[in-house]
Amino acid sequence: MDSETFRRHAHALVDWLATYRDGVERYPVRAQVGPGEIASRLPLSPPREGEPIESLFRDFERDLLPGVTHWPHPSFFAYFPANASPPSILAEMLTATLGLQCMVWQTSPAAAELEARVMERLRQMLGLPDGFTGVIQASASSATLSLILTARERATDWRANEAGVGAHKPMTVYCSAETHSSIEKAVGIIGIGRANLRKVPVDGDSFAMRPDALDAAIAADFAAGRKPICVVATLGTTGASGIDALRPIGEICRCHGVWLHVDAAWAGSALVLPEYRWMIDGIEHVDSLVMNPHKWLLTNFDCSAHYVRDPDPLVRTLAILPDFLKTRERGEVDDYRDWGVPLGRRFRALKLWFVIRSYGVAALQEIVRAHIATAREAASWVEAEADFELMSPATLALFAFRYRPRGIDDEAALDRINETLLHRLNDAGRAYFTQTRIAGRYAIRFSIRQRTTERRHVAAAWREIRETARGV
Ligand SMILES: *Cc1c(COP(=O)(O)O)cnc(C)c1O
Repeated sequence: MDSETFRRHAHALVDWLATYRDGVERYPVRAQVGPGEIASRLPLSPPREGEPIESLFRDFERDLLPGVTHWPHPSFFAYFPANASPPSILAEMLTATLGLQCMVWQTSPAAAELEARVMERLRQMLGLPDGFTGVIQASASSATLSLILTARERATDWRANEAGVGAHKPMTVYCSAETHSSIEKAVGIIGIGRANLRKVPVDGDSFAMRPDALDAAIAADFAAGRKPICVVATLGTTGASGIDALRPIGEICRCHGVWLHVDAAWAGSALVLPEYRWMIDGIEHVDSLVMNPHKWLLTNFDCSAHYVRDPDPLVRTLAILPDFLKTRERGEVDDYRDWGVPLGRRFRALKLWFVIRSYGVAALQEIVRAHIATAREAASWVEAEADFELMSPATLALFAFRYRPRGIDDEAALDRINETLLHRLNDAGRAYFTQTRIAGRYAIRFSIRQRTTERRHVAAAWREIRETARGV
């Protein structure tokens, strides 16, 4: 493709992007296709001769777009929206064009140095204390994986990487019963064994980890000759927005010499609001924390901010230095490949820098604050309705609810009714929700975090929920 052709297609593409964004509400939120439907439209074998971009684009619109779930839709209330804001999209275009691979400082000094600066800015925005150093990972899961690995190495005096985990006594990791599945996955991958992950019970009202139960679990493991290495506390659990209390948990970790990692993947964005900094009371006991600007801070997926109090253990765990990666500046600069699992790294700092600079802190605060206020209001609508039940509080911009028609008390029947309700809502395509279980019961999550979501979208979705429920 010559430059002129590239230019022409790029201009046309930008027009398409802007039109898409303006008209995204025309599409069903969740793709309305069944398994295999899209694949059946795609030829199996590669073309012998190159094809013009026009035909590719025609096929994109005709064959692929119907199978796209529209994450930027303002009625996307499922999971956690992956926010794609205009400045972030612009930065992604630049990133794609530069095509950087940011594994070591030398492969792009600007990327490494911008990453350090932008992480420092974000640290200030979140109210994290001085002394926390940040690095951008692809996901909260990979940040947590690298952290539990670090805790394992520290606990084995940096020997498990060499000798394998078999040479050590069983290690144990702690999280709450509400914790994200990525912890369990990491513990399995790292060789600690899922059976050695302790899911500490939560308080029945707040869904937060019970510190007394954590303390007892750690003490029992010590007594049984095992080695407790890491506690993962969550700010904002995925199902019920539980917020673990860092101070008592941190004191327990201090007392037992156990690493405290905080998973604040989605709720961490609320730390831009001073009125939510109570969530990090006790931060002085925290060794590391991860939050995802790609969930609620208007930055395109992928961008996960991973903070550590001391980068040395992390780097000591993950650094490995083959000859082909040696550079003259090693030791003087941060080679971020040593801070995570993959060697290769995208230039992710650019989009976060675009977002922070173009919005400014005040506008970002307003957006997060407005989402929380709307979620609170929506939760109050649920509470006011006799045949609906609020299943978890709207502490931040997420709550769970279920339909509970009068006269039906059988829990299994209620689970089925709510599952049917969820499918009907999503099949209608005007809004998109996902489910969770709260104290074993099927519940529908209402997650309000899309940048473009206004109160009217939430009100329309609530009308639809009521009407659909009463027809189930
Ligand atoms: C979303 C989420 C994760 C996983 O985030 P990824 O960046 O997709 O790995 C982990 N923990 C919590 C609490 C989450 O909400």
